Amino acid sequence: MNTAYLGLGSNLGNRLAFLRGGRDMLIKQAGIELIQTSGVYETEAIGGPPDNPLFLNAVLQIQTSFDPHRLLEACLEVENEFGRSRPMRWAPRTLDIDILFFNDQVLYEDHLTVPHPRLQERAFVLAPLLEIAPGLKHPQLDQTIADLAAVCANIAELVPLRTTW
Ligand code: ADP
Ligand code: MG
Repeated sequence: MNTAYLGLGSNLGNRLAFLRGGRDMLIKQAGIELIQTSGVYETEAIGGPPDNPLFLNAVLQIQTSFDPHRLLEACLEVENEFGRSRPMRWAPRTLDIDILFFNDQVLYEDHLTVPHPRLQERAFVLAPLLEIAPGLKHPQLDQTIADLAAVCANIAELVPLRTTW
């Protein structure tokens, strides 16, 4: 069994429904089991046009029998199921699912980089991760999520929405 962390984001349409639907479709697969769920955070879009709508973001910890490639495939299938299209980089998206960590593996491949290469800069990833995995160690940076969060700009402004999901 493998442990992975997935980052979910949506900034188009009924964002909470997309996060819920994505989570449910992932965990109903035979090879994926949900272990922990962060709260939901509303965050500003990074990159893209200045009027890019706000995101909702959350992180899931899962256990999976899938290897990283099969897990990526599962994530992309679920994105597609929710009508994700990719007209351009940074376009608003119904549902984005990224593999943040997969065990302590480090992968550099054409279609898969793990850990996710920019997670340490992103408050919208670190804030939900801090909630469910403060002691998790980044295998390349050799720092925990708590260490990375402590030096991440703007993270203090992010508080989870008062909603269950
Ligand atoms: P982003 O999430 O960076 O805004 P996309 O969701 O459009 O961009 O992802 C485009 C591609 O990124 C995916 O088709 C996938 O092959 C690749 N990719 C590379 N590493 C990862 C990862 N760790 N998690 C998810 N996708 C990844
Ligand atoms: Mg993505």
